[in-house]
Amino acid sequence: MKRILVAGGAGFIGSNLCARLVRDSNNYVICLDNLFTGRTENVADLIGLPNFRFVNHDVQTPFVTDVDQIYNAACPASPPAYSKTPMETVKTCILGSINLLDLATENGAVIMQFSTSEVYGDPAVHPQPESYRGNVNPIGLRSCYDEGKRCAETLFFDYSRQAGTKIKVIRIFNTYGPNMDPGDGRVVSNFIMQALRGEDLTIYGDGSQTRSFQYVDDLLDGIDLMMNHSREDFQGPVNLGNPHEFTILELAEKVLAKTGGKSRIAFRPLPSDDPVRRRPDISLARGELCGWEPKIPLDEGLDRTIEYFRKIESKRK
Ligand code: UDP
Repeated sequence: MKRILVAGGAGFIGSNLCARLVRDSNNYVICLDNLFTGRTENVADLIGLPNFRFVNHDVQTPFVTDVDQIYNAACPASPPAYSKTPMETVKTCILGSINLLDLATENGAVIMQFSTSEVYGDPAVHPQPESYRGNVNPIGLRSCYDEGKRCAETLFFDYSRQAGTKIKVIRIFNTYGPNMDPGDGRVVSNFIMQALRGEDLTIYGDGSQTRSFQYVDDLLDGIDLMMNHSREDFQGPVNLGNPHEFTILELAEKVLAKTGGKSRIAFRPLPSDDPVRRRPDISLARGELCGWEPKIPLDEGLDRTIEYFRKIESKRK
């Protein structure tokens, strides 16, 4: 059996990954999460399966086990969540990476870092290729996440060069889908929940800023190709995101049209250091990961995500 550790496994992306991994009975999945932003309901269907184990653990302290593969998805990822507790965010990125890299090195395991498009900051190059070094404020409200993730990448490559650790680094662009936390403040979950509750959709700024939204299943396909089917010496970093770009106003209008409620759009102040635009250049992923590219258009992904949030809302009532 392949022993696979998913740090941050009860979070949005981590839990979707765990669910996919446990489907293969040759995998034994150990899910670590301190439940700071992760939620047990995301893995409720997996707890009790013979090839799944949940451990309440904070990656800021070492965890010892035998392991063949490690995915490091542990970090608060929504701007309101990570900027509320910036010291813990930085420590999770750095101490978490060190502890997991040490574990990977001792076991000779492959370790994948879930990095982020935030390493590009407010990008001056558009779309963003991996070679772009970014435009990041080192002392702002988002820096705990941006710089934490940048330093984590540094640690991964230093461990590879100095200790021979087997690393893979992916840079994840805005991703959405089932298991997002309805209250974590990200734009897709905010808009859908607001629309379902008949509240105003809060657009920060004038809504002309852009993002490129990737449905989580497309990301999981990319992760599998990177971990299990790419050249051993291909370490990344590689962008995984949907290159189809939308303004935030367009997203709000789509959600309104799909939910058909009586919500309206309300404009609110733009948070500091909010990137003006973001779109991945995915040429490297296409070339290295067997032609990988996202398949699920925003309309279809939004329908599936709205259905998920509708179910949560009806349980809550
Ligand atoms: N945003 C918004 N309304 C919201 C939440 C977010 O207009 O209720 C905007 C936010 O300012 C940003 C974009 O939507 O420009 C994406 O925000 P999110 O927090 O989802 O992720 P980010 O890409 O900024 O990390």
